[in-house]
Amino acid sequence: MTRKFNFCAGPAALPAEVLEQAQAEMLDWQGRGLSVMEMSHRSAEIVGIAEEAEQDLRDLLAIPDDYAVLFMQGGGHAHFSAVPLNLAQPEDTADYIVTGSWSKKALAEGKGFVKAQVAASTEDTRFTTVPDAKSLRLSSGAAYVHYCPNETIHGVAFPYIPETDAPLVADYSSAILSEPLDVTRFGVIYAGAQKNIGPAGLSVVIVRKDLLERARQPVPSILNYTLMAENGSMYNTPPTYSWYLAGLVFKWLKRQGGLEGIAEVNRRKAAKLYGAIDQSDFYANPVDPACRSIMNVPFTLADSALEKVFLAESEEAGLLNLKGHRSVGGMRASIYNAVPEAAVDALIDFMADFEKRHG
Ligand SMILES: *Cc1c(COP(=O)(O)O)cnc(C)c1O
Repeated sequence: MTRKFNFCAGPAALPAEVLEQAQAEMLDWQGRGLSVMEMSHRSAEIVGIAEEAEQDLRDLLAIPDDYAVLFMQGGGHAHFSAVPLNLAQPEDTADYIVTGSWSKKALAEGKGFVKAQVAASTEDTRFTTVPDAKSLRLSSGAAYVHYCPNETIHGVAFPYIPETDAPLVADYSSAILSEPLDVTRFGVIYAGAQKNIGPAGLSVVIVRKDLLERARQPVPSILNYTLMAENGSMYNTPPTYSWYLAGLVFKWLKRQGGLEGIAEVNRRKAAKLYGAIDQSDFYANPVDPACRSIMNVPFTLADSALEKVFLAESEEAGLLNLKGHRSVGGMRASIYNAVPEAAVDALIDFMADFEKRHG
């Protein structure tokens, strides 16, 4: 068995240690004689696994007690509608900051449920930067302000947290747990699990408890934050195995020195890769250096005709899933927490060698 280096944007790499533990526990979890997948979500075992995962996530992000943590289904997309349904009445205004494909999609879906207003858009830069903090056109009395701190497709990240009077809502799908975060600045943080948390099928929501009173009636039960909070995210059958795997990832993160520890590695990985791109005329990254993502690194080749060759040869070299998103083309290396530094080193070596042979 050889594990290759996986740069997939999502579902993404998981730590090998976590997969090994899951494998060891697959048929018989801790002497109970059955798999986690086969347990009732009402059992003491699953409730214990679920509570421990929540506590570990709370420890990692220092989530205060006045925030609820929800483990839900429906991926990141669920919250494009759940946020307006839970936080706003249909006639309310909500502000959206548009800095890439994901915040644009959240806006498009939000329009069906609330008066969604564009507070800023960087589309005219082809999503290569974020708006200046002072240029945000925020509405007075908005129900919330929505943004995406890390745009997975464009590789653009906010170097600041917007200042808002209204509750700030962040789609943190591709950057949650990559570095320490001041949760108290946010009303709602949501994230699909398959980038930095665990397997697809799960999404995590961190919501300030006073916001749980603002839902319109009715909200579909599986999107209802209040109902989920009241029921420990077990109103219906939750994605138990994904939740368990996420719990193993949280423990792994604690062993890496928590978010401070992993952030140091993440920043080093990103700095190396951007350094390699910047010092070459053969590769380029279009993003404003002040807003470059440390998780998703898109890059192009000076000769786009070589892209197919690059992808074929990199795959041959054991570097998987480097193709950029179909909407932007080029390459993209997603270097989430579970992508080891050795993977980034191998990619940089491959890129230098490829340039030598084809440049
Ligand atoms: C991947 C991603 C999503 C979509 O997640 P799904 O689980 O496919 O719904 C939403 N937002 C961001 C920022 C993402 O990276």
